Order: sequence, then structure tokens, then C-alpha cells
Amino acid sequence: MPTLKIDINKIKYNAKTLKELFAEKGISVTAVIKGVTGSPEVANAILECGITTIAVSLIQNIKKMKEFGVKVEFLLTRLPTHTEVPDVVKYADISLNSEISTIKLLSEHSLKQGKRHKVVLMLELGDLREGILPEDIDSVIEQIIPLKGVELHGIGVNLACFGGVKPTEKNMIELSQIVDHIQEKYNIILQMISGGNSANYEWFLSTENIGNINNLRIGEAILLGRETLHRNKIPKLYTDAFTLICEVIESKIKPSLPYGEICQNALGDIPEFKDIGNINRIIIGIGEQDVDTKAITPRINAKVIGASSDHLILHSQNHMEVGNEIAFDINYSALLRLSTSPYVKKVFI
Ligand SMILES: *Cc1c(COP(=O)(O)O)cnc(C)c1O
Repeated sequence: MPTLKIDINKIKYNAKTLKELFAEKGISVTAVIKGVTGSPEVANAILECGITTIAVSLIQNIKKMKEFGVKVEFLLTRLPTHTEVPDVVKYADISLNSEISTIKLLSEHSLKQGKRHKVVLMLELGDLREGILPEDIDSVIEQIIPLKGVELHGIGVNLACFGGVKPTEKNMIELSQIVDHIQEKYNIILQMISGGNSANYEWFLSTENIGNINNLRIGEAILLGRETLHRNKIPKLYTDAFTLICEVIESKIKPSLPYGEICQNALGDIPEFKDIGNINRIIIGIGEQDVDTKAITPRINAKVIGASSDHLILHSQNHMEVGNEIAFDINYSALLRLSTSPYVKKVFI
């Protein structure tokens, strides 16, 4: 079985380093561990460095962590569906929201369960994923305030996730000004002003004035040690907390160019290759079903040249034996699929 090795201590070190860095300007870190499907082992390691809120995108993952005994405040990053609202109230302490119909349902079910659910209202500032438009702020807040089952815990923004929009001085100041407006007009205090994710790293370093922002929801930077605007390594952090290990199932010298009539391949593409003569072609037993094969890099002198649903083809500079193991660095899209696949063994070190 392909194996994903997870170095818990490296993740813990990354989390601690980022927590201390962001704390220098008064920003708390919510650790987003959806990339490891809410692994309880990873959650507990992160808690040891003093982070007090863990976030994932699936309510099932919060349930799993609770059953494992992880004791912490849980935040749900993806907007709840109406049907999962009862479970959101039951398992999550905080959820990100942008639809008043959902917030009203959250309030209703909180009252039924004798709880007060915390809502962070997401604001659209250009990335065009979730969030209410700034012009709708007043009407939405006026509908939330009277709801007895929910507390308006804060305001959040999410950039660089869908549209690739960069968090800048300008949009972060806009967020701060909207927070000032809400707090003054409605005479309330918003606890969590959550300015974004790992893509906010550059903004954090370069801005003198962080305004009202007091929280970031950080996933990839903790898990993989990179900011996400350019995927640059963050100084001091580990980028190799995860290693994918796979076994060679075929090793032969074969041509570099497929021969015969060329049509579509398994994934619907018409592949093109350059003829560079005979090469060492290595096959390993993993494919698109279990990993984003474009998002892994062998640690040996070899290159991924393609994949089908369950085979990955490498061009290796050196001969490899069938049964040899190959280690790979992985990036975020590979991590998501590897973590989710039941056909990839997880080993914690
Ligand atoms: C995934 C997610 C994050 C974390 O993003 P990273 O780029 O991994 O830091 C933060 N907020 C929301 C709403 C998310 O969906």
C-alpha cells in the first residue's frame, strides 16, 4: 500500500513558530487541519503549542476528533448545508456563514439543543467564493442580532482561495472599517476578526497597521511550511512534514515516445511526448484516484511523466529494482487526496 508518513513534530514546530510570529502583532491562529481530514493525532500535537481553536471543513471530521477525545474549540470552515445544521450545532462551536436562512436555522436548532452557537459572518471582498456583499451588511446584521440561539462572534474574509485575490493593505483596511462601522452602529463587540488564511502571510509581514484584525485561519502554512500566494517557503518552517512512499512495480528500459495510433488516454487527454530515445521507465502503484500526480516530486533523480487512474510513470536517471521504495515530496492538492484515500496507509512518526 502507498504510505503517507506524517512527522507530527515538524507540524507541531510549524504551528508553534507561526503562532508566536502572528502573536507579535496580536493575531491569534486558528489551525485549519482539513488537509489531514481532521486527524486527531495532528490536532492534539497542535494543541500542545497553545493554539486553542481547530478548524476543518467537514462536520464528520469534528465528530471524529471529539470521539477520539480531542478537547478544544472547533470551527467549521465550510458554510453549513441546511440539512447538517443540527449536527453543526451539536459538534461545532463556531461556524463560518454567509446565508441568513442558514443562520436562522442554526439559531432554531441551538435553542432546541440548549446552546448558543457562534457565527462568524463571512464578507465578500473580491475573491468571489463565500461572503455577503458589503452593501448587504446592515440588513444581514439587523436580522442576526435578534436571534436568540446564535451569537455574532465575528467577521471573516477569505481571499486567494478561489479567485486568487491577494490580501493587501487596501482590502484588509476595508475589513477593519466595516468592523468599526458594525461595532459603532450596533453597539456590539465582535470577538473574532478573521482576516484570512495562509495567503495573508505577506500582508502580515509588510503591514505596519493590522487594524482590527485579530485572527487568521492557517492551514497549509502549518502543514507544509509555505505561504500560498507564490508557494514560497516560510523561513524556519519545515516543508517536508509529509512524505509519500511508494513501491516500484515495473522497471524497464523502454522508448520515451508511445508508438501506434494516438487517441485519448484514460483521463480523456491526448498526450504529447518528446522523443528522447530509450529511458528508464519506472511504474509505481498509485494514480489519479489517490493523489494529484502533478503535485508530487520524487526525492530521487527522476521525473513524473504521467499517470492513469492507478499507475504513475517516472523517468528515472538511475536503474531501480522492482520492490524498491521511492519517497516523494507532496504539495497541498496531493495531500488532500492522499489524506482522504482509504487506500493510502497513514504512519505517524
Ligand atoms: C481552507 C480554508 C482556510 C485555510 O486555508 P490555508 O490556505 O490552508 O491556510 C481558511 N479559511 C477557510 C474559509 C478555508 O476554507
